[in-house]
Amino acid sequence: MLSDSYPPYNFVDERGELVGLNVDILKAINKLYDDQIEIESGDWSMVNQALETGDACAVAGIHYFDNMDMDYFHTRSVINTYHCFFYNKRYRNNFSIRDIRTTQSPLVVLWENDVLIHYILSLNPNARFVFVRSYEELLDELEREEVDCAIAQKIMSLYYAKSLDKNYIFASDKVFLERNMGFKVSKNYGELAEILNNGLEIIMANGEYQKIYDKWITPHYRSNKDWNKYLKYIILGGGLILLVFGVLLVFNRILKSQVRKQTKNLQSQLKLNSKIRYELEDQKIKAEVSDQMKSAFLANMSHEIRTPMNGILGFTELLKSDNYDSKERDYFINLIQQSGDRMLSTINNIIDISKIESGAEKVLIKPVDIRRIISDLYDFFKFEASENKIDLILKEEDFQSSKVFYSDEYKLNSIFTNLIKNAIKFTPRGSVTVSYSYSNNTANFCICDTGIGIREEKQQIIFDHFVRADISYSSEYEGSGLGLSISKEYVNMLGGTIRLESAPGKGSKFFITLPNIDGNKMYSGS
Ligand code: ADP
Repeated sequence: MLSDSYPPYNFVDERGELVGLNVDILKAINKLYDDQIEIESGDWSMVNQALETGDACAVAGIHYFDNMDMDYFHTRSVINTYHCFFYNKRYRNNFSIRDIRTTQSPLVVLWENDVLIHYILSLNPNARFVFVRSYEELLDELEREEVDCAIAQKIMSLYYAKSLDKNYIFASDKVFLERNMGFKVSKNYGELAEILNNGLEIIMANGEYQKIYDKWITPHYRSNKDWNKYLKYIILGGGLILLVFGVLLVFNRILKSQVRKQTKNLQSQLKLNSKIRYELEDQKIKAEVSDQMKSAFLANMSHEIRTPMNGILGFTELLKSDNYDSKERDYFINLIQQSGDRMLSTINNIIDISKIESGAEKVLIKPVDIRRIISDLYDFFKFEASENKIDLILKEEDFQSSKVFYSDEYKLNSIFTNLIKNAIKFTPRGSVTVSYSYSNNTANFCICDTGIGIREEKQQIIFDHFVRADISYSSEYEGSGLGLSISKEYVNMLGGTIRLESAPGKGSKFFITLPNIDGNKMYSGS
């Protein structure tokens, strides 16, 4: 016999049929033993009484303890039952036994006559109680705000909460009062006890029991509470993953932009470095060239000063002696004068270039007679040229003498002296021609020779200070390497141009143009 109001174990459903875990188990055992067991139901007190009076051979849903009732057989356990705490949404998922201990006087819902009252009082002697007689009542009480918790059988309470749609009732994970529940069989029906025990063993082994269990019991374990509990962790975990992912993404972006910035910096640094390197190499080459030139200049200068000085001192010594006649003495005096002139010219060159370099050299514009300057120079160099067996030729082309030419006489003299002197010096044989013309307010000059000429790669640099086209012939040809650079500076200061055409072995042509400078217009050097 079974109680008809003990869900989900044995109860009458809404269609009026007796259903539940125990009912299905009995049906499964009946199948094995040719429907030997007759199943009947009634209310709980009637069922108990029927067993005592012998109207029923056995009853289902009996908990058994160590000190079992020896007047009856108890079959093996059909199911394990236990109690737990139930609480309302006030506590959500945070209820624990500690809440009973720490609350001033907790209000607890209990089954009438439930022995667990002692357990609660042991936790908190100030606990207050509400006693109920049914699950419906228990769940109604739990809806009240001031109620802290209820204690009841877990599976049955969850079954009622679900069927009454009270999903906001929460069950604690902690369970207690764990007991076995099985069949209680009258001593007169030992065979029935055996059928029940063997039947249980068989359906537990063949999987039938599990199916029945999953049908009636398993769904109640999956309460909303569990889902909520896991949902919380799932959301928390998901959030954390997203956060970590987001941080990594941001970090990645920052790193990328830093790498990009550093690469740019390095690239521009590299560019700058290679630019600086090229500049330094250039400076180094220039410094080396300049050093080479200054050494050559010093050697040359020493030579340029020592040679005429030796001449002066040597011939002065000879003049002291009475061994020479007056003709020879005149010759010595002449040589002494030439040496002095040569020294003076060198010193003048040095003074001129240092004045140009310091910016102290000024332009002094006056009316000048070009024709006179050129013819004086011609007369001056004619003797030197003939001594070197060279023809010095003067050519005047289209020169309009009526025009007054304004320029700096000192500088014109210096320019032409240097050029004619060079032409004679570097022409072993042949001729030197000085030609000049005047048109469009500009005087044009050409100093051409048939001398040794200048190699193309030297043609630009010979206008630099201290440069000689070939240092190796410095002993053959005297000179400081300053004449052309002074000439070029002066031509620039006078607003003119100087140009060279030359070929080695064929001779050189220096072309000069000089403007007629009107009184107001002044030029400064480069
Ligand atoms: P220097 O006092 O050595 O003549 P310059 O500055 O006047 O100095 O000339 C520089 C160099 O240019 C000379 O050393 C020579 O090598 C070359 N040079 C100048 N004029 C001529 C020329 N007419 N023919 C050949 N080489 C020349």
